[in-house]
Parts: sequence; structure tokens; C-alpha cells
Amino acid sequence: MLLDNHGRKINYLRLAVTDRCNLRCFYCMPAEGLDWLSRRELMTYEEMLRACSLLVKMGIEKIRITGGEPFVRKDIMQLLTALSKLDGLKELSLTTNGVLTAPHVAELKRIGVRSVNLSLDTLDANRFFAITRRDEFASVMETMEELLKHDMEVKINTVVMAGKNTQDIIPLVELTKNLPVSVRFIEEMPFNGEGHSYSGIVWDYVRIFDEIRQTFPDIQKVPDPQYSTSYNYSIPGHKGSVGIIAAYSRTFCGTCNRIRITPQGTLKNCLYDDGVLNIKDLMRLRISDTELEQTLRRAFNTREKDGWQAEQKRLENPNFHESMATIGG
Ligand code: SAM
Ligand code: SF4
Repeated sequence: MLLDNHGRKINYLRLAVTDRCNLRCFYCMPAEGLDWLSRRELMTYEEMLRACSLLVKMGIEKIRITGGEPFVRKDIMQLLTALSKLDGLKELSLTTNGVLTAPHVAELKRIGVRSVNLSLDTLDANRFFAITRRDEFASVMETMEELLKHDMEVKINTVVMAGKNTQDIIPLVELTKNLPVSVRFIEEMPFNGEGHSYSGIVWDYVRIFDEIRQTFPDIQKVPDPQYSTSYNYSIPGHKGSVGIIAAYSRTFCGTCNRIRITPQGTLKNCLYDDGVLNIKDLMRLRISDTELEQTLRRAFNTREKDGWQAEQKRLENPNFHESMATIGG
């Protein structure tokens, strides 16, 4: 079992496979996109597999593929298929914006992916365009239909943004009446790739819950699964459920079980830190698996207590303008 220096179990890896994306969500990246990583800077699939295989041997049980947009990277199904065969891996899942995903759903199911997180901030095509700067609402809805048709577990990720989509909170909750989806409202985090930092947010988890409760007064708290980052709720008579993720308020750090690897191979012990080491560089220096394992264990022993401490260090570097597309959410 992998433990960090605070005694927390680490068993979940989020692997971002690309920084590129076919949307331009304003909370994630600027309209012109990012200064994209070159092919050489990206981890190859072979490097990703080697790192994942070692981490699974060390105690990682769940891997989530994210990005950027995973389906923008060429032959992503090859990587997913290879990962699905890793001995000891209990769960493989992914987070996608749904633009290119629909044609792959049957194959995802075949290789054993059971749950997909689909990002969708609004049910209104015009607001979708205003938020993502692309006219792709119909393809995302098609992906949702396809996922449900294949009996996949669907979690809808909705970032709640003051002045942009708070009118969508209730319609998105209403979606759970007839569809077996889990709609999860996420507090906006300061990772839009332009380096803006802010001292607080208007729509935090308390306000989001109050907004939902006004329309659905009989909403009920349900037990949160172990390591859950969301507060989970059900509404009597609804097929789906509702979650709220206090990603900015950081209420879940005490049980954090996750590490992240960015597309360029940087290991992040926390969403809010600026990286602890680069796995790709070490592998290209021909480090052995034994040495890599020791290096990783040392890194897990330096985890910050929570996202506030991790962020404090990151802010010491004024040139650090991270986009969520390199963190993977
Ligand atoms: N492109 C894929 C997608 O959008 O699902 C995967 C990568 S995206 C970075 C992963 C998740 O991070 C998405 O659900 C997205 O909404 C969320 N995200 C991006 N920027 C965010 C921000 N500034 N605050 C909160 N969530 C954010
Ligand atoms: Fe792309 Fe996902 Fe970022 Fe939107 S949130 S720009 S879909 S990586």
C-alpha cells in the first residue's frame, strides 16, 4: 500500500495525455489556446505505460485519463486498451468534453471502462458557445446519449461560474429526474492559463447547495463514498443524483488519495502544487524501475498537507500561469 507523509493512502492516478483541446473553455485556457507542447515534450505512450505499470505495482488501483481533451491525441484508444490490461488495475476511467467521444463509446465499454466523466456547463447551445468558444453542443449531447445507451455510468461535470451559467444549475439538476446521471457542480478554480489569481469565489459549495435546495427542498444528503471529493445528494423520485465539489474551498484534502501526471511527465502531488519531479526526463535518462520507484516514494513523502499549503509555494513563482488543460482537472 502506498502512503504519503501524512498517512494518507495514494491509490488514484490522474494522467493528462495532452494539453491540446478542441474547445476553449474560458475558465481553462485563453481564446488563442496555449503555447502547445511539442511532440518531444510530451510523454510517449510507451513512457506513460511504463510509468503506469510501475505505479500500479506500487499501489495505484485507479487511473483516470484526462487532458486537454484525450480524444484529440492520436490513437488514444491504443493507450486505453493497453492500460486496461494492466494487472492489478481495478478501474480505468476518463474525463472528456464529449466532442469526439461518441464513436468510441462501444469500444470503451468493450475494454472495460465503466464510468465516464462528461464535462457540460450548460444545457443551452448559445451559452455553451459563450463558455467554450466553439459550436459543439450537439456533439456533446450525442456523446451523453451514446454513453447512456451503453449503460455507462455518466458523471456530468459542471463548473459553476458567476454571471455565466448559474441559471443552468436547476435545469441540470432537473436532468437527473429522468436520466440516471450524476450531475456534479464544481467550484471554479484559478487555472485558466492566464495566471489570474483570486482571493475567493462567489459561488462556493454552500451557495450552490442553497440554490438547489430552494427549488428542491426535499433534497437529501447521501453517504459519500470513501475518498469522494463530492458532497453527494439524492432527490426523491429522481433517477440520477447530484454532487457538489468544493474544489476551490478544498474541503477534501484530509483524505486525498490522488496524484497527477501532466502531459509533459510532471508528477503533481496536489492539484495546487507546481510539480515535484519530471518522470519523463528521468526515464529518458534511462533510470531503472527500481530507482524510479525509490524516487517516486521519496516524492510521495513530501506531500503538502493540503491545497492551501501547496498553492502558497506555487504562488512564490510569479511566472507560473498554469492551465487546467495541463493539470487534467
Ligand atoms: N477536456 C476534458 C474535459 O473538459 O472534460 C478533460 C480535461 S478538463 C481540464 C477536466 C475537468 O476540469 C473538466 O471537467 C473541466 O470542466 C474542469 N476544469 C477546467 N478548468 C477548470 C477550472 N478553472 N475550475 C474548475 N474546473 C475546471
Ligand atoms: Fe478543453 Fe476540457 Fe479545458 Fe474545456 S476544460 S478547454 S474541454 S481541456
